[in-house]
Amino acid sequence: RPLVVMQSVSKVFSSGTVALSNMSLTVESGEFVSLLGPSGCGKSTALRIIAGLGDVTSGTIDWPSSRINSRGLPEGDIGFVFQEPTLMPWKNVFDNVHLPLRLRRVPKAAAHDQIIEVLTTVGLQDFAKAYPRELSGGMKMRVSIARALVTKPKLLLMDEPFAALDEITRQKLNDDVLRLWKATGITVIFVTHSVFESAYLSNRIVVMKARPGRVHADVPLITSLERD
Ligand code: ADP
Ligand code: ADP
Repeated sequence: RPLVVMQSVSKVFSSGTVALSNMSLTVESGEFVSLLGPSGCGKSTALRIIAGLGDVTSGTIDWPSSRINSRGLPEGDIGFVFQEPTLMPWKNVFDNVHLPLRLRRVPKAAAHDQIIEVLTTVGLQDFAKAYPRELSGGMKMRVSIARALVTKPKLLLMDEPFAALDEITRQKLNDDVLRLWKATGITVIFVTHSVFESAYLSNRIVVMKARPGRVHADVPLITSLERD
C-alpha cells in the first residue's frame, strides 16, 4: 500500500493565493522523491499537507499505511526537517533529540539508547552534551535530522533542508541522507529548487510549476540508486 495519496488537492489561502491547484501525488513505500520547482510553486505547502500540518481547500490526502489518530492524522509515522534547524538553544543536543519522545511521554532514561543510536546514525554521538550555539550549521542540521528520526518514522519529509549551508557541507549531508535511505527502509520526500540535488538524490522527480502550483512532470529516474 502507498504511504501517501494526494488526490486533486487545491489549497487557497485566505489571502486569495492559490498555492496548489489540483495536485495529485502517490508515494510508494521506499521511494526517494524530490519535489522540484521554483520558489513559490507550492512545494512547502504540498509538504505541509503531506505531513498533516495544513488542511486542504479541496481534494483529499490519505496515509493508507498509517495508523490514523482521532484528529484524522497519521500517528508518529512522519518526520519533518525544516530549512531552519529550529533547535531549542537552552537544551543540549541529547535533550533536543529527546523532544519528540518527551511529547509522547517517554522519559529520558527510557529513551537513552534510542537517542544515542540516532545520534550515531548522523555522526554526532560525541556531541550529546553540546549546546546548539557550539555547533556548526551542518551539525545543527544533523541534530534536526536525528530529532526527525528518533520516533522511527516511515516517511521523512525534508523542506529545502540544506539550502542555507555551504556547498561542501551540503554535499556531505546529501551523501549522509542517501546513506541513511539505503541503510533503512525509510521513504523520503525532499523539497528542493536544485535540479542537481534532485537528480543526485532521488529516484523520482516530481516537477512543480507556479501560478497556480501544480505538478508539471513526474519523472522516474533510471539510476544506480538502489538499496544494498
Ligand atoms: P489559512 O489558509 O490557514 O487561513 P492564512 O492566509 O490565514 O492561512 O495565513 C496563515 C499565516 O501565514 C498567517 O500568519 C499569515 O500572516 C502568514 N502568511 C501570509 N502570507 C504568507 C506568505 N506569502 N508566505 C508565508 N506566510 C504567509
Ligand atoms: P515553495 O515552497 O515552492 O516556495 P510555498 O508552498 O511556500 O512555495 O508557497 C506557494 C504560494 O503560496 C506562494 O505564492 C506563497 O507566497 C503562498 N503562501 C504560502 N504560505 C502562505 C500562507 N500561509 N498564506 C498565504 N499565502 C501563502
